[in-house]
Amino acid sequence: DGGGNVRVVVRVRAFLQRELARRTRCLIDMDPVTQVTTLLAPEVDDAEGGRPKSRRVIDDKQFTFDNSFWSHDAGDEHYAHQEDVYNSLGEEFLDHNFEGYHTCIFAYGQTGSGKSYTMMGTPDRPGLIPRTCEDLFERIEAAQNEDSNVAYTVRVSYFEVYNEHVRDLLVPVVPSAAPHYLKIRESPTDGPYVKDLTEVPVRNIHEIMRYMKMGDSSRTTASTKMNDTSSRSHAVFTIMLRQIHHDMETDETTERSSRIRLVDLAGSERAKSTEATGARLREGSNINKSLTTLGRVIAALADPRQLRPGKRKDVVPYRDSILTWLLKDSLGGNSKTAMIACIAPSDYDETLSTLRYADQAKRIRTRAVVNQDQIS
Ligand code: ADP
Ligand code: MG
Repeated sequence: DGGGNVRVVVRVRAFLQRELARRTRCLIDMDPVTQVTTLLAPEVDDAEGGRPKSRRVIDDKQFTFDNSFWSHDAGDEHYAHQEDVYNSLGEEFLDHNFEGYHTCIFAYGQTGSGKSYTMMGTPDRPGLIPRTCEDLFERIEAAQNEDSNVAYTVRVSYFEVYNEHVRDLLVPVVPSAAPHYLKIRESPTDGPYVKDLTEVPVRNIHEIMRYMKMGDSSRTTASTKMNDTSSRSHAVFTIMLRQIHHDMETDETTERSSRIRLVDLAGSERAKSTEATGARLREGSNINKSLTTLGRVIAALADPRQLRPGKRKDVVPYRDSILTWLLKDSLGGNSKTAMIACIAPSDYDETLSTLRYADQAKRIRTRAVVNQDQIS
């Protein structure tokens, strides 16, 4: 039975140079036993430019998540390395994929909170995506060496959603050419999908890493051209795993197919309405429609009473944005799903908003099934 709640974990990063220079205080506390994360109210001195605190009530806030990753100071005995994040989340999700379940892990948080570090990482400190790829092929090779009766095929795709357009990251960017955007279609059996998206077969860790890097550099190339788009774009890396098992005794062949989705979302500050920040609306570019819709989808799924009685389930506004439409299954359907809330150590307002968002996501239940068919 694959019914279960969205797994929600939180990770706090170390200070960056500029934060160290400002002698910022860490506002996060995590209890390694209870997994309680506390957001401490900033002192007056912490306020930007030393301006006094506003009159609104600011106090300590506590949240409990399935896991809390303390990646703030490497000297701490509870410090969570990239490997620890993989071991406590990625590995288990890959187990589910081999069992035939679809999974999705997405990173949420403001720009600079550690989403890309957690999902992709650096060459020296690889994150969830390269570790998943590596573990996947290690398991496949181990199974093949045991001469099992399972044949494996792996395919990969990588796209980004930017300004409500889908861009294939495995198609080389042609400088000076007009950007090529893909359309979304919905299939009655497989749900929404990106039409004509490149899906490449990969046979080993080297091939999959090559595509991962190609897509990643395509994302950054485009983003430096258009200024800070990486904070505005959602990157979706997908691995499709097919296992064909032949049972010698019964002479039956069964197929299991699972999808592994790893999502690096746009910076959550992009979801803010301009009314809230008092900023002037510039061509609507400050608001990220996919991100605001994601918030509404999560709210609707977390509290089904919000949905008007008598209405069918499709009042969840999946189709109001490209990202939520494409992630429909991952958010409220056939998938085991986890959210990693990434937080900066010293930004009270943005962190509170991220932690509240994550708290809401905990209440979402998905219904994952083993995707298995008998083919002969
Ligand atoms: P985001 O993708 O959320 O905008 P990044 O992943 O790019 O943020 O992280 C911002 C900066 O902080 C980067 O320089 C990154 O290397 C660093 N960083 C983030 N998380 C960690 C961590 N857990 N440990 C060390 N450095 C980190
Ligand atoms: Mg990033």
